Amino acid sequence: MELENKSIIITGASSGIGKAAALLFAAEGADVVLGARRSSELETLAATINQGIGRAVYLAGDVRDESYASALVDLATTSFGGLDGAFNNAGIVGEMGPVADMGLDNWNAVISVNLTAAFLAAKAQIPAMRARGGGSIVFTSSFVGFSNGGLPGMGAYAASKAGQIGLAQSLASDHAAEGIRVNALLPGGTVTPAGGEGNPGVMEYVAKLHPMKRLAGAKEIAQAALFLLSDRSSFMTGSPMIADGGMSVRLS
Ligand code: NAD
Repeated sequence: MELENKSIIITGASSGIGKAAALLFAAEGADVVLGARRSSELETLAATINQGIGRAVYLAGDVRDESYASALVDLATTSFGGLDGAFNNAGIVGEMGPVADMGLDNWNAVISVNLTAAFLAAKAQIPAMRARGGGSIVFTSSFVGFSNGGLPGMGAYAASKAGQIGLAQSLASDHAAEGIRVNALLPGGTVTPAGGEGNPGVMEYVAKLHPMKRLAGAKEIAQAALFLLSDRSSFMTGSPMIADGGMSVRLS
């Protein structure tokens, strides 16, 4: 059990990487607090976990809302006695297209869900982890925020994901001495609704960009997050950890 007795928030838990992480973390002994927008999906997932895998509670809301970030921390504290970890994973791609044609509304939407929400999450989570004597925060960034890989039209998304790496590194430096580790996880293309699931043309195109010539399964990325949230990564903080099927070492 890699996460035994750890109380962990997972956002974006209603589908894709977050859902796979919720199931994996609970199976590894974590008490999980599930967050996302859709209550019915969270309710079903929590019921699945509570029927024999582990312990789960949930609260639907919008990660752009500061009071939602605090409410998830409060739920972890009242349900499980505190907070040891957070997988701040909710995110959107937004509209893809050249920056010269991009509306400010799309830019603001992507930055607020992916980057401002990461700030709000950490702001709410750090005092609770400090009270616990330490903890681990993980942001789901992306290969796009580091190497792009040749994907066109990703200006807002790339900026938001690169911003998460800078935020993680700054937080890591500020809180290392308190035992609070903060890392960014950079997945490559992953089979999820946001990753083009159900659209074979998109999935094939993105898969071919990867040296491994395939996309990740959501569980493969959840396993990388598990490592960052567990004590196995106890000397890692401020790391942009790449799990991208070789995208960042692509030759062309
Ligand atoms: P997904 O669409 O399956 O899941 C996204 C989750 O985020 C959903 O649970 C959704 O409810 C939640 N969410 C979105 N906006 C929200 C908001 N405003 N408030 C609360 N919850 C919100 O996609 P996924 O691929 O599992 O994405 C998870 C993370 O992984 C994202 O941050 C994404 O950018 C990142 N990522 C995905 C890929 C990929 O190829 N799938 C690659 C690299 C990084």
